[in-house]
Amino acid sequence: MAPINTADVKKQNVKSIFTLIRRHEPISRRGLEDHSGLSWGTVSSVTSELVQKGIVVEEREETCELGRPTKNLLVNLEKNHVLGIDINGSCIVFVVTGLAAKICDTQTVALTSPDSEGVLAITYAKIEEYLKKFPTILGIALAIQGFVDVQKGVVIANDRIRGFRNIPLKDLIEQKFGLPCFFFHDPDCLMQYERFYRRSIAATVKNCFLIRADADGIGMSVLIDRKLLRGSGGAYAEFGHTVVENGGTLCECGQRGCLETCFTLRSMAKRCNQISGLSWSDMDFVNAFHSGDPLAREEFARGLRLFDGALQNLISILDPQFVLLGGTIADHFREYLKEHYESFTQSALLFHTSKIVIISFEEMETVLGAVIGAADALSTNVI
Ligand SMILES: [Zn+2]
Repeated sequence: MAPINTADVKKQNVKSIFTLIRRHEPISRRGLEDHSGLSWGTVSSVTSELVQKGIVVEEREETCELGRPTKNLLVNLEKNHVLGIDINGSCIVFVVTGLAAKICDTQTVALTSPDSEGVLAITYAKIEEYLKKFPTILGIALAIQGFVDVQKGVVIANDRIRGFRNIPLKDLIEQKFGLPCFFFHDPDCLMQYERFYRRSIAATVKNCFLIRADADGIGMSVLIDRKLLRGSGGAYAEFGHTVVENGGTLCECGQRGCLETCFTLRSMAKRCNQISGLSWSDMDFVNAFHSGDPLAREEFARGLRLFDGALQNLISILDPQFVLLGGTIADHFREYLKEHYESFTQSALLFHTSKIVIISFEEMETVLGAVIGAADALSTNVI
């Protein structure tokens, strides 16, 4: 039997206690003892060390536990910051947080008809500004929409920002600012956020899909054995670009009949307009559906049928415990989808126990999910 390395054990204990403080703050030492399964002595010595180093602080207010006062512990917001950046087609969101992803500062820059040069110029200028304001930033976390290579940190293609393709963004930022940069696909950021906070189903499961069905795109994150699917170098988990109609409508990606050409608000409104000669916006389509318009109802049913077929195929292969479905479509058709998926799981998923759950994403969830991913890695350097 290999000898037990006490330094490794200690390192592991510090890591698991600090992770618990990040996820559950404010939390008492007694709470840490319960969650970690470690002894009171270990919890006391590790937390004292973290407080002494200034990584963790004690809450001023005292709470009573078992008749004696105790101070809750929090991650110190005054040091060890992370800069999160969410670059999407409509805006760039900047956020500075502590290692528990609590926000210290945030700004959103709206984009109209964006191009690659403009997006990079704004991003670099804001990074510079934030590094001056928060000299204790340890690293930069990016949430990127579109086709990406997360292994190399490269933007492969993004049809919402002109010319934003084949850009080694992670390397460019690391070279320019001398800080580690963590590069994530935006649906994975949502999964990271859902897994970080104990309230979410995703926090405890091993296998799970997260799908964001929006006005103009469908994104996906896949968790297998508690690890995010990363692909082998190119684009991955592109559920929106799985072909559901051979020879169907031309998609922005260059293929025909992608799911995104059938089940986004934009594509469904567009089809109704082509059929009826109307000029519905996305919201006109939603309102027509809710007022019982037969065309809107029929088009939604068609889109949902194609979406379900593609989802059923994936479930057959990967057998997840849960499918979390959120985004604009889930927000606008929540009750309808809830009812639909209750019967779908009984009638269509004959060999699977997968549950499809309609969820809502919180504001800033994407950028904070990126921060959480980066903070996981950066935490090990400071504790
Ligand atoms: Zn496509």
